Amino acid sequence: MNQHFINGRYVAGQTGETLAKLDPATGEEFARIACGNAADIDTAVKAARAAFDGAWGKLTAAERGRLISKLALKVQDHFEELAKLEARDTGKPMSQARADMDATARYFEFYGGAADKVHGHVIPFLNGYHVSVIHEPHGVTGHILPWNYPAQMIGRSLTASLAMGNAVVLKPAEDACATAFRLAELASEVGFPDGAINIVAGRGHEAGAALSAHHGIGFMSFTGSPEVGKMVQHACAEHLIPCTLELGGKSPQIVFEDADIDALVPIACKAIVQNTGQTCSAGSRLLVQKSIYDDVLSEVAKQFSKLQAGTPEMDLDCGPVINAKQRGRVQSFIDQSREAGIPVIAQGQIAQGVPNGGFYVQPTLFGPVPRGNRLEQDEVFGPVLAAFSFEDEEDAIKAANGTDYGLVAAVWTKDGGRQQRVSKRVRAGQVFINGYGAGGGIELPFGGTGKSGHGREKGFIALEEFAVTKTIVHKHG
Ligand code: NAP
Ligand code: MG
Repeated sequence: MNQHFINGRYVAGQTGETLAKLDPATGEEFARIACGNAADIDTAVKAARAAFDGAWGKLTAAERGRLISKLALKVQDHFEELAKLEARDTGKPMSQARADMDATARYFEFYGGAADKVHGHVIPFLNGYHVSVIHEPHGVTGHILPWNYPAQMIGRSLTASLAMGNAVVLKPAEDACATAFRLAELASEVGFPDGAINIVAGRGHEAGAALSAHHGIGFMSFTGSPEVGKMVQHACAEHLIPCTLELGGKSPQIVFEDADIDALVPIACKAIVQNTGQTCSAGSRLLVQKSIYDDVLSEVAKQFSKLQAGTPEMDLDCGPVINAKQRGRVQSFIDQSREAGIPVIAQGQIAQGVPNGGFYVQPTLFGPVPRGNRLEQDEVFGPVLAAFSFEDEEDAIKAANGTDYGLVAAVWTKDGGRQQRVSKRVRAGQVFINGYGAGGGIELPFGGTGKSGHGREKGFIALEEFAVTKTIVHKHG
């Protein structure tokens, strides 16, 4: 893992410098990763271009699809090994890591099957003309990904691009890149041509910045923070290439007085503690109609106070967060909100016996949170749930749309008209009615607006992002 994966093999970084990779559950170093620079990125982009112009680019869509589908079988063959590697690298509970591997394999199945199903069309035009519209790959695509769902992100971002025939260069997060490298090895084993998949590890502001600025890439897929997303978009603007940005959220669950509260309560807890709250689509705001606020919050508090954080092997509700910086960030949200006098309604526990050096935080439920507070406005990216009350439908929509984010939302009500009205007016890329989350949602278009970014991934729509449309006008007389 202390090397890059370029042109089908492991290669040492040009500087030889490596970075420590800590185990989030213990805080101890367990591996070193290569620290890539602009020269490593350049080598990787050139290898990708050679693959695109050569063996990889010559494959038919069906052949590409078959390779991606074979990778799905490899994930199933190596399921437990990959899940353990992901859990060790990220600290996530084993059952979460297994769910992630299921989703990763599903992405490979979906995009493997989809590769030969992106068809162009023919437009009836003037007499004597034949007009066809076809979808072509960009060439080389760049991918900068975060540490929260490393393997799933490969499935979602890389395989959609590969399905369209692009060759890819990935800069994974320095905090979790083990499964990326293992999946690249498995891809070589199933027969991906050298250079179709390239990975350069390292720091974001070095390797990541070099990738987004590289003139050899034709498209950039970025997932991470809004701050870095802006930098990536600026870099793409310099060489006039498109990008998708998936930048997180502050997603509301809107609970009306006629909602099924028994169904809501466990989902409200799970939506914020899944992956220890480090999920872009975490349900981090609970908006409850004033008439039922106290009753709902007392039920949510009962379940919330039973939540526990522990090691991946303990397999509890939460793991540690990814690193010391993230723990400090989450803890400062909790401490500052307490100091500001926002009531803590319930707290979960850090399990007995966790290693002292691990990056654990107590799941915390605050409420009522005043509108405009940073618990309403800022993504914590940890297991911190903020509860609010609202008066009526109009006020609910105002509150739901009261942040700069717009990724997902949920509407809890039995009233069919209200389900539709609120779903249409709420600012989000995905809306759930009487539920939350989609178990990976491989087939479902996903992405945000505003500070949550732009562009869509998952489903067939992602294939359009990873392609350019060409119109061919043939005057045949
Ligand atoms: P981040 O810095 O945005 O990291 C995302 C990716 O971008 C990583 O691969 C990172 O490399 C890379 N990167 C960093 N600086 C870069 C630059 N100047 N140019 C190009 N690439 C660059 O996110 P983070 O620091 O890991 O987390 C910070 C916050 O971002 C979180 O608290 C959370 O709010 C948000 N976040 C959102 C998501 C999401 O799914 N939407 C995922 C992760 C984080 P390094 O690994 O070296 O930093
Ligand atoms: Mg970072």
